[in-house]
Amino acid sequence: MSDNDCIFCKIIKGEIPCFKIYETDKIFCFLDIGPVNKGHALVIPKEHYENLWALPDDLGKEIFKACKTVGKAIVEATKADGLNVIMNNNKAAGQLVFHAHFHLIPRFDNDGHEHWKQQEYPNMDEPAGLAEKISSLIA
Ligand code: 5GP
Ligand code: ZN
Repeated sequence: MSDNDCIFCKIIKGEIPCFKIYETDKIFCFLDIGPVNKGHALVIPKEHYENLWALPDDLGKEIFKACKTVGKAIVEATKADGLNVIMNNNKAAGQLVFHAHFHLIPRFDNDGHEHWKQQEYPNMDEPAGLAEKISSLIA
């Protein structure tokens, strides 16, 4: 399953060059062209799935394994102090390429990147109701 207009499908097919790190029969991993920090890589399934919910569960296991293996190598290679594993799903969450992918971002003490802004719940009825609502939607 491949999408002709998808930039990551083109990378997998070799139509667009990339700096490849690792691959299995189902997974591909390469350096992000616009790294947050040098060594920032992407883990993607070879088949085209748009986002988290489109990914088959069994593929999730392979992706998780690749994130661990490649993430460890990135930390060693860059002498990083930490690693962010991030997935953006849908435009509102910052997804720009609609071929599911996980970012592996090496992090360094005092590298200047900040966490997103957080807020407080004005009263505890709200999180109580939300947790109940979310929970009730899980089959
Ligand atoms: P998103 O915002 O969708 O989670 O992240 C997409 C990522 O893909 C971005 O970090 C961007 O730098 C990276 N990217 C976009 N086009 C290319 C490309 O042609 N080659 C590589 N290696 N990375 C790309
Ligand atoms: Zn694709």
